[in-house]
Amino acid sequence: MLMESVANVNGVGEKVQETLQEMGIHTVEDLLFYFPYRYDTYEVKPITELVHDEKATIEGKVVGEPSLTYYGRKKSRLMMTLQVEQFAIKAVMFNRPFAKKQIKPDDIITVTGKWDQRRLQITVSQYKKGRAEAQNPIQPVYSLKENITLQKMRKLIMNAMEAYGDQVNEILPEKLVIDYKLPGRLHALNQMHYPESREQLKHARRRFIYEEFLIFQLKMQLFRKLKREATSGNAQNYDNDQLTGFVQSFPFELTDAQKRSLAEILKDMKSPYRMNRLLQGDVGSGKTAVAAIALYAAITVGNQGAIMVPTEILAEQHYESLTELFGDKVSIVLLTGSIKGKKRRELLEQVKEHTADIIVGTHALIQDEVEFAKLGLAIVDEQHRFGVNQRRTLRDKGLSPDVLFMTATPIPRTLAITAFGDMDVSVIDEMPSGRKPVETYWVKGEMMDRVLQFIQKEVDHGHQAYVICPLIEESDKLDIQNAVELHHQLTTYYESSMNVGLMHGRLHQEEKEQVMQDFVENNIQVLVSTTVVEVGVNVPNATVMVIYDAERFGLSQLHQLRGRVGRSDAQSYCILLADPKGEVGKERMRIMTETTDGFELSEQDLQLRGPGDFFGKKQSGIPEFKVGDMVHDYRALETARKDAAAIIESDKFETDSEWKDLCNLLYKDEILQGEILD
Ligand code: ADP
Ligand code: MG
Repeated sequence: MLMESVANVNGVGEKVQETLQEMGIHTVEDLLFYFPYRYDTYEVKPITELVHDEKATIEGKVVGEPSLTYYGRKKSRLMMTLQVEQFAIKAVMFNRPFAKKQIKPDDIITVTGKWDQRRLQITVSQYKKGRAEAQNPIQPVYSLKENITLQKMRKLIMNAMEAYGDQVNEILPEKLVIDYKLPGRLHALNQMHYPESREQLKHARRRFIYEEFLIFQLKMQLFRKLKREATSGNAQNYDNDQLTGFVQSFPFELTDAQKRSLAEILKDMKSPYRMNRLLQGDVGSGKTAVAAIALYAAITVGNQGAIMVPTEILAEQHYESLTELFGDKVSIVLLTGSIKGKKRRELLEQVKEHTADIIVGTHALIQDEVEFAKLGLAIVDEQHRFGVNQRRTLRDKGLSPDVLFMTATPIPRTLAITAFGDMDVSVIDEMPSGRKPVETYWVKGEMMDRVLQFIQKEVDHGHQAYVICPLIEESDKLDIQNAVELHHQLTTYYESSMNVGLMHGRLHQEEKEQVMQDFVENNIQVLVSTTVVEVGVNVPNATVMVIYDAERFGLSQLHQLRGRVGRSDAQSYCILLADPKGEVGKERMRIMTETTDGFELSEQDLQLRGPGDFFGKKQSGIPEFKVGDMVHDYRALETARKDAAAIIESDKFETDSEWKDLCNLLYKDEILQGEILD
């Protein structure tokens, strides 16, 4: 049985099993499907054909004793000379002191590593004693840990293949295998571990990429389907006339994109399903207006609405814009940490007694102590840890409102269909008319003087500016020190001609609010800040955004920062101060100056950074694929998504015997089980 413990494989003792567990290998199947992360080709080329700075493999005879030197803590360098053809080549090996015992004068060894043409030197990443193998030049390389060496891993997989290989069954229906000309499962598995050629390997990978994506998509979509079927009874039959009247009271007409998103949201709310939708739209695209209308729809049914945001400043801004839109049509309460004592108890009472229709607050607040009389719609703003947890919390409180997530981080299509496969997605991909794109410039650090003069000019015209401080990685303290210093410099520079304010994360809540208030009221003209202003703040009179060390930020973050300006009819400017060393940094600056379209930026950011980094490491919520790469293998992902949709829609999925294996596999999934049992 493939599901037996990996301990049953020859060569797996207690110690080895422990390490395997840590690597996530528990069963025989886990081991069989533990794929190489790389393949090396040991093709020995003549020295004269090697390329400087590229990877090379050479075979030579060791001349004299290798010499070992230690330096620093636990660091070592092993140097040896190899006789290759008529050349004496230096080979350097770092931090592998044990190799000295294994490599003796006159040994023939094969080394692979980075080639330095000028010094005739190779920095060894891998070595093996003896000649390069001519027969099987493609060598699989596995991720390893502790007592499991590459040789050991190969041996274990070999043993597992011999004893259990015949139990590896095809799980994809024949039709798909034929249609896509996929190699059979066992054959492909063999090619992954022992590729006969690059061509065979390519097909084997193609098969597993598709299999992996298809199973993932099937799970997501089945999950969504089951959830829909399991929820009922929260159809919010809103009053259309009242809603239309409300929309007509706005000082502007909705953009087509806003109308489209709104229609999708309202349809969900009206249906008996529980809405689980993500609303994406660039900063300033008008998400708040859409949210307000959806909230109003819930209120016309006699329900309450809640809007949860990550920070207090944002809560206040939402409170203000909603109050402005609603006038005295509805009763809105703001619940922040700074509201305490009797006032707080009164507000909570209003929510409980349903004298408050809409409650605005931070996530934690709403989750912890608030009791709703009748919550119909919950909106979660700027939420990167999308989904599951919040839904759980609401459910644990016995609530099953429609849920709308909002984000201003444009998410590339590729990620949207994977990370949010269990959500519906609406996109506002159009800006209200009349906005002027922010003019963006990339200048070198030494031009700061001119930048300061430029700020002065804008302030003379009655505008305001943000200056974002240099960012010091992983040190909150230094960030603040920097901010304080920069604030001091600017205050000195501008003397009495304007007021320079300071904002950073360590200020007390009241201080922060005071600073923001002063900036909103134009008592402060220039606001020096760490990146705390990133999310959601709205000061339309600010027209300049200066970002120090811009090369240290990702494109998405730069775009968010830039979104703080360009919020009125006045022309706005974003100035990136950067001296990027690497190509990626330069590329980022170029992209920023060339486009203000958040979606285009996000696609480019994804290309530059890869999916893992996109949302920041921890909070990604993005599945990790073993073989597939959702950026590189985007087309396979799309195909799998469509196929999965067709499969889930058709009835044959649960009845046809050809689908039995896949179906079983899906229903074994923990998340699915959790949802079904709920
Ligand atoms: P977001 O929440 O997406 O960042 P907001 O909803 O705060 O954007 O909208 C930004 C500004 O644009 C607000 O001042 C809002 O009143 C205005 N706005 C929203 N929709 C429109 C529209 N269709 N036409 C003109 N202005 C709009
Ligand atoms: Mg509904």
